[in-house]
Amino acid sequence: MKSEKLFELAKGYMPGGVSSPVRAYTPYPFYTARAKRSKIYDVDSKEYIDYCLAYGPLVLGHGNEEVKRAVVDQLEKGWLYGTPHEKEITLAEKIITHYPSVEMVRFVNTGSEATMAAIRLARGFTGRDKIVKIEGGFHGAHDGVLVKAGSGATTFGIPDSKGIPKDSVKNTLQIPFNDAEALTSVLENNSVAAIILEPVMGNVGPIAPAANYLSEVRRITKENDVLLILDEVITGFRLALGGAQEYYGVDADLTILGKIVGGGFPIGMFGAKREIMALVAPSGAVYQAGTFSGNPVSVTAGLKTIEILERDSVPERINELGATMRAVLSELVRDSDVDGCVSGVGSMFKVFFSPGSAAVKNYADALGCDKAKYMRLFHKMLSSGVFLPPSQFETNFVSFAHTDEDIERTLKAYKENINDLQD
Ligand SMILES: *Cc1c(COP(=O)(O)O)cnc(C)c1O
Repeated sequence: MKSEKLFELAKGYMPGGVSSPVRAYTPYPFYTARAKRSKIYDVDSKEYIDYCLAYGPLVLGHGNEEVKRAVVDQLEKGWLYGTPHEKEITLAEKIITHYPSVEMVRFVNTGSEATMAAIRLARGFTGRDKIVKIEGGFHGAHDGVLVKAGSGATTFGIPDSKGIPKDSVKNTLQIPFNDAEALTSVLENNSVAAIILEPVMGNVGPIAPAANYLSEVRRITKENDVLLILDEVITGFRLALGGAQEYYGVDADLTILGKIVGGGFPIGMFGAKREIMALVAPSGAVYQAGTFSGNPVSVTAGLKTIEILERDSVPERINELGATMRAVLSELVRDSDVDGCVSGVGSMFKVFFSPGSAAVKNYADALGCDKAKYMRLFHKMLSSGVFLPPSQFETNFVSFAHTDEDIERTLKAYKENINDLQD
């Protein structure tokens, strides 16, 4: 097995053998040789239908030909200028069209960078230090948000990272998801700049907002004069072109985008109304900068991807595929010997092995699920040629490249494996 040998080698050079923790699992992760459309191929020539999809950006699947052509054209003209270029304006216009709460944007390189700067901006705008975060919410790997953080931080049992000064997180307050009263109470007792949340939790597995939860959050933040930062790094251009804001009919004071907006290349963005964005340097005194920000390759790939999303009604198609997946999986789980539930919204889905088959509504519920059972399912599915994310706490995605046949094969594999998960 080449993957096993490569992982042994990698462990000598990189902590845990990987460049990002979520990619590591036992006994060893497969090494990818190439990927195309809905499929990813490992160095041992095994093919998998991919539902991990690089954890979110690949809404069109792997290696989309139109995006590739646009990027190759751009490469002919250079890949980094360190000057302004026209396509930044086009991408900004596209985003502003689909997100009415956004009037101006700043492009950065990752979602982490975008949330870091947005929190700084919210503090600069309000003159207050405290922020509220949702337990299990993940907003990237920087100090102020690595408390009760989802994603790999939860998978590896380090939701509160070491190496972060107490002073860096003393201003981060935490409340459970889907609990509007907890928000009211934390805002009544503290002077808060902003609440940051994923409108659909995506980094503890997908958890949809309860009916009216987001509109309650909007009402409560307005009443308390606190900024609402919607981290749409996963949901943006996915649930709808206008993200969760369009899908749920809610608006944000600050919006974070990433992943899909770069068409598979590194990107992040934060945006807001003019009056808030005017504070960002060089027009204002909240500093933010980056050598690779707005680079023409990421911007080109993002633009082309959004054009395809618009032209081919991609959100509608992937939402339908996701709905099929959840409906059939729910039946499979109900008719099986295991306790569990199926969670998600739009193109996001997940089987949670929840005690008593209870629905998963927040971080505590997700933590109560049977992780070991999930990993047994993961390995069985891998043997059946289906690559799910290697953690109970990551979301499965369907892409525009997934065919009805892929979905059928996948559901067949779930059916064969779900009753066979004992130790
Ligand atoms: C992935 C993710 C981030 C971080 O984005 P990076 O590009 O990995 O830094 C932030 N917020 C959410 C909701 C994410 O899913």
